[in-house]
Amino acid sequence: MSPKKKDAKKAMPETEAEEETAEEPVVDLLVGKEEPEKPKDKVAKELAGEPGAMDEEIERELREKELAMWAPRTKLGEMVRKGEVKSLSDVLAMGIPIKEVEIVDSLLPDLEEEIIDVGRVQRVTDSGRRMKFRIVAVIGNKNGYVGIGEAKGKEAGPTIRKAIERAKLNVCEIKRGCGSWECNCGKPHTVPFKVGGRYGSVHIAIMPAPSGVGLVANDTGKKVLSLAGLTDAWVSSDGHTRTTLNLAHALIDALVNTNYIKVKDRDIKNLAVMKGSGSNEK
Ligand SMILES: [Zn+2]
Repeated sequence: MSPKKKDAKKAMPETEAEEETAEEPVVDLLVGKEEPEKPKDKVAKELAGEPGAMDEEIERELREKELAMWAPRTKLGEMVRKGEVKSLSDVLAMGIPIKEVEIVDSLLPDLEEEIIDVGRVQRVTDSGRRMKFRIVAVIGNKNGYVGIGEAKGKEAGPTIRKAIERAKLNVCEIKRGCGSWECNCGKPHTVPFKVGGRYGSVHIAIMPAPSGVGLVANDTGKKVLSLAGLTDAWVSSDGHTRTTLNLAHALIDALVNTNYIKVKDRDIKNLAVMKGSGSNEK
C-alpha cells in the first residue's frame, strides 16, 4: 500500500454500521502520533502481551498440553478425541456446528493466525464514554482451510483470543487447483476457476493466475488467501473495500464458493482440483 493510500485510510474512518456508535482506527490512540504507524497485527500482539514473541516451539508444546487435558463437552468432540473422526473434512461433511475449538486444533495442528483488524468501538452511556476493542482474526492451515472471527471486549488480550477462537469455530474448507490456461501445471496453487463473493457492499472476484504471479491483492487479500493455501491469484473488488472486515468476509465467501461450482469429471483432472488439504475431489 502506498503512503498516500494509508493517509486516505486514516482520514476516512470505517463507516460500517455499529449499533453502539461510531468506530475510529485504533492505531493513533495506541501508538501515539510521533511514532510511525505499526502494522495492526503487531499492535494486536503487543496489546495481548506479545504472544507473537513467544517461541513457536513453546507455543506448540502448550497447545499439545492443552489438547492432552481436553475433556470434550460435545458428542462431536468425543468422537474426535477418540479418533473416530479423523479429518476436518469428515467433520464438516457431517454438517454439525463445531462448538469446541479443540476439535479444530486437534484435526488441523498447523493452524496459523493473523489479526487483520483492530478497531475501537465507543459507547456513550449516562456515566460517560466507554471504550471497547473490536478485533478481527483470520486462521488457516495454508492448505485448504480458512476461517474468520470477530470479537468485541474491554480488554485487548482476551478479545484477541476470543476472535481467534471464533475464527477456528468458523473454519471452512475450500477447493484449490490450477485454473490458469497459461500455467496448466497440475498443482493446486490458485483457484480452479474464477469465483465471486460478496459481503455487505463489497463484491470481489478471485481469478486463477499462473504460477509465480503471486497474490495480486491488497494486504487483507494477501493474508486471507495465503492462510487458505493459495500462492497465486488475481483479486478484483468493488464496494467499500476499506472495511477490512467486509472485505475479508467477501474473500472467504468467494473461496467457499469454489465448493458450489459443478466441475465435470474430466475437468477435475485438467484443473487439478483439490478439496481441503488433500485427495482429489471426486
Ligand atoms: Zn498452475
